[in-house]
Amino acid sequence: MLPPVKKDRVIHRLPKCFSHAAALHTKEDFHPAVKTFCQTNKSSAVRFNIAKVIVVGDVAVGKTCFISRFCKEAFEKNYKATIGVDFEMERFEVLGVPFSLQIWDTAGQERFKCIASTYYRGAQAIIVVFDLSSVESLAHARQWLEDAMKENDPSSVLLFLVGTKKDMSSAGQQEDMEREAVRLSEELKAEYWAVSAKSGDGVKNFFFRMASLTFEANVLAELERSGARQSSDIIKLTESTEDRHKRPKSRCC
Ligand code: GDP
Ligand code: MG
Repeated sequence: MLPPVKKDRVIHRLPKCFSHAAALHTKEDFHPAVKTFCQTNKSSAVRFNIAKVIVVGDVAVGKTCFISRFCKEAFEKNYKATIGVDFEMERFEVLGVPFSLQIWDTAGQERFKCIASTYYRGAQAIIVVFDLSSVESLAHARQWLEDAMKENDPSSVLLFLVGTKKDMSSAGQQEDMEREAVRLSEELKAEYWAVSAKSGDGVKNFFFRMASLTFEANVLAELERSGARQSSDIIKLTESTEDRHKRPKSRCC
């Protein structure tokens, strides 16, 4: 049995977005259907309790530090090389339902643009990271997203554009970058965030928001699927009843 989820990973309300201009949605709370479902069907909600999240972006933009700030609550850049795993597992509880994020980080292969398709495949959320002090890294964001989308279904994946190293740029510099990042987020239908792994600014809020939106999307997709299953059962049932009527009457006396 797994130990209980840490108290500070329990989510009751939908965390706020970073910028209303570039949010996946700006609703104050979880979708009512998701809330009702979690209240009444906790045990079946547990079925879709894991999501794969991939992190992409140019080398040295701060992807590893960003992940380790959240998972290890520290600013350390070499943690991954020492433990050598493909992903971090982070456990949450959302609306009373256990929910885990499998957060995939690269081991530096992005330097050579040779990321295996298995890294991208089956993601429910894609985080494209750029460095707020590097215009070039933002210009490359679109290409990273295109590569990741080749292995994913656009209708079932949530996109996030995250600018890192917020502590390094001046307010003016940041404003310029942010204007462009918000514009790109609108175009890509991604949610924009600015964070600093060094100070921790925005990191926890981002991961909570991302976990919540991914959970919400998972439950809504499952509700849609089960709705579709039920209506196709009804159609099948109706068809077979009609078929029965269409069948030629037995000539048997
Ligand atoms: P990755 O290649 O994208 O995984 O980048 P890393 O996480 O290894 O970070 C690259 C460099 O950026 C390292 O030298 C980090 O110390 C530095 N770095 C990462 N995040 C931040 C941040 O938020 N602020 C500052 N000042 N430096 C950072
Ligand atoms: Mg790295």
